[in-house]
Amino acid sequence: MQDIELYRQLLGLDTPWTVRRVELKVKEERVEVWAEHADSARWPCPECATALPLYDHAEERAWRHLDSCQFQTYLHARPPRVQCPTHGVRQVRLPWAEPRARFTTLFERLAIDVLRETDVQGATRLLRISWDEAWEIKRRAVARGRARRQPHVPARLGVDETAVARGQNYLTLVCDLTAGTVEYLADERKQASLDGYFTALTPAQRGQIQAVAMDMWEPYAQSVRAHVPQAEAKIVFDPFHIVQHMNGAVDQVRRQEHRLLRAEGDETLKGSKYVWLYGEENVPERQQERFTELTRRRARKQLKTARAWALKESVRDLWRCRTRGEAEAHWRWWYGWATRARLPQVLKVAQMIKRHLPNVLTYFRHRITNAMSEGIASKIQALKKAANGFRNPENFKTAIYFHCGGLDLYPDPTH
Ligand SMILES: [Zn+2]
Repeated sequence: MQDIELYRQLLGLDTPWTVRRVELKVKEERVEVWAEHADSARWPCPECATALPLYDHAEERAWRHLDSCQFQTYLHARPPRVQCPTHGVRQVRLPWAEPRARFTTLFERLAIDVLRETDVQGATRLLRISWDEAWEIKRRAVARGRARRQPHVPARLGVDETAVARGQNYLTLVCDLTAGTVEYLADERKQASLDGYFTALTPAQRGQIQAVAMDMWEPYAQSVRAHVPQAEAKIVFDPFHIVQHMNGAVDQVRRQEHRLLRAEGDETLKGSKYVWLYGEENVPERQQERFTELTRRRARKQLKTARAWALKESVRDLWRCRTRGEAEAHWRWWYGWATRARLPQVLKVAQMIKRHLPNVLTYFRHRITNAMSEGIASKIQALKKAANGFRNPENFKTAIYFHCGGLDLYPDPTH
């Protein structure tokens, strides 16, 4: 088989396209392939598919293709243009690449697979492409996937926020809790951030939303109330966020108490920050001894932090109740304890939960919990870590859609 025929087959070129010339540049480790077409060919207008004769050619272009062994391989061609009576002079679709792509479809597919498995830095090395090219492939893949997505409204939504960089610039995320995918992203965490998701839906679609899990964050709740019918019965302030607030209170109590103890030369709480954040059932083995010592009954009486921790653990039992009635009884008992505990930081959270109690108890109707606890959070953390934080929020959005959007990212195989 001659190299021309070999590359025609490898590139999958079909009539009217064929390979004219193949050049092997050994020193540069490159293979250059030129494609050309039969003169008699007729071409469909890219807009209306009317078959038309050749009008002229655009400038020669090159597309990066899959490597030939270790040799980078480029396909060259002059894209034909047609003159459509309706649409004017247009460049025809090429079978090996999408319009405006710098890579062949097959290369782009490989790049998407690689980018799924590794970070952008790693992909640039494996694929021998630039940083910008890698991002360009990701952006195109996401745009393609989002354009293809069938309009659908998840019945159970999760709304959450994530910081773009440490402690600044938030993004709002809307997740499909059933599919575990990120459906929508918007800048900041204002009411308007979430409004953008709902206003793109028809009233009938909004009516299909059954439940929305979120943190006790008023702008989000306002947005749901403004757009979703019977919102009060559907908003669920989820356990994940409530326990997070309690963890925050425990940590404040610990810091304050540690300062006081330390002033008296008592280092009991030194280095104990993470011990208190575990749930009782999740304490790792290496921390077990310290944990038992800090939380045992006698210590609990003495240490405010241990009391705060016990309250945090006990509030978690709320969601272990089998019925709403049982949960209400547990809540009354717990709230009484929280008010008598002389821990202002815990009391503050207890009062916040109390203010929002109706939408905490909606849990017993919908049984949904936050989306970010379902794997999406750890994926997003990994993305941030791999990127060393995102300076560019648009890149962060692209990365989230690429990895968590559940999108069909591949280029259309007919191109
Ligand atoms: Zn046309």
